Amino acid sequence: MSEFLTNPGCTRRILDKYGLHAKKKYGQNFLIDADIVTGIIRASKITKDDCVLEIGPGIGTMTQYLALEAGKVVAVEIDESLRDVLSETLDACTNTTVLFQDILKTDLNKIRETYNNGKRLKCVANLPYYITTPILLQLFREEHCFDSITVMVQKEVAERIIAGPGSKDYGALSLAVQYYADPKCEMIVPPHCFMPRPGVDSAVLYLKAYDTPPVEADPDVLFTLIRASFNQRRKTLANALSHGCMINGRTLTRDEVTGALRQLNLPEDVRGEKLSLEDFAALSRLLAD
Ligand code: SAM
Repeated sequence: MSEFLTNPGCTRRILDKYGLHAKKKYGQNFLIDADIVTGIIRASKITKDDCVLEIGPGIGTMTQYLALEAGKVVAVEIDESLRDVLSETLDACTNTTVLFQDILKTDLNKIRETYNNGKRLKCVANLPYYITTPILLQLFREEHCFDSITVMVQKEVAERIIAGPGSKDYGALSLAVQYYADPKCEMIVPPHCFMPRPGVDSAVLYLKAYDTPPVEADPDVLFTLIRASFNQRRKTLANALSHGCMINGRTLTRDEVTGALRQLNLPEDVRGEKLSLEDFAALSRLLAD
């Protein structure tokens, strides 16, 4: 294996050698701190039995460590100009395949079938921050595709994901993730651990996927209600849901919503940010009937 890249000098040398620079449009902030990379690997709990999907290997910094710990690594990278550098930095990683494509257009189930005999994958990534939410929603959309997802995200996004009812950070993203997984913040990562330095602090989240969701609800109805409630955050829930919110092909009325809130012993003027995932699930069951 070529030298580990988790050292700023080595990262700079390899970028210079290939005439590369970090591309802002692809959210390229390369990790240069070995303790952070080993911390992410530890948090992800990967073993030789696992096939890991890495999103955005960059110049291969974390991929080298993943290849040592996992049985197999499939890395999906959008930036074709990293092809030569990755063939050098990953030359010794015989268990690693790099696919040059957009992760948002990637068939994740096909990766699971092709590289892991249909068994669940583990995802580990230092995410490109400009598409954090679409990537997370895509990973969860494919039911039972992932056992766990360990990701570096902006600290502020991590706070939104782990937030509970009543907190200012709580919203549709918290509920979308918490329906599928139990999120834990593993560490806070300062800007100097990356090259170039991002303008924000980052955080590593470990999301352990549930085998079955923690609440009983039709996900389409549940997420329609959640989106409508948080689209108009300052409105009461009854107002937000009785202005054009469609469930099963019909528009909800104010009476239906206030009636359902009463049945759940919730005040008529309650706002969405006070409702737990279980409250939203109960509301969705009542309003779907
Ligand atoms: N894993 C490397 C590291 O930790 O040093 C690089 C992480 S960097 C924050 C994000 C990586 O995601 C970059 O390599 C970038 O080119 C890649 N990327 C950005 N958009 C992507 C997309 N839509 N699909 C796949 N990879 C993408």
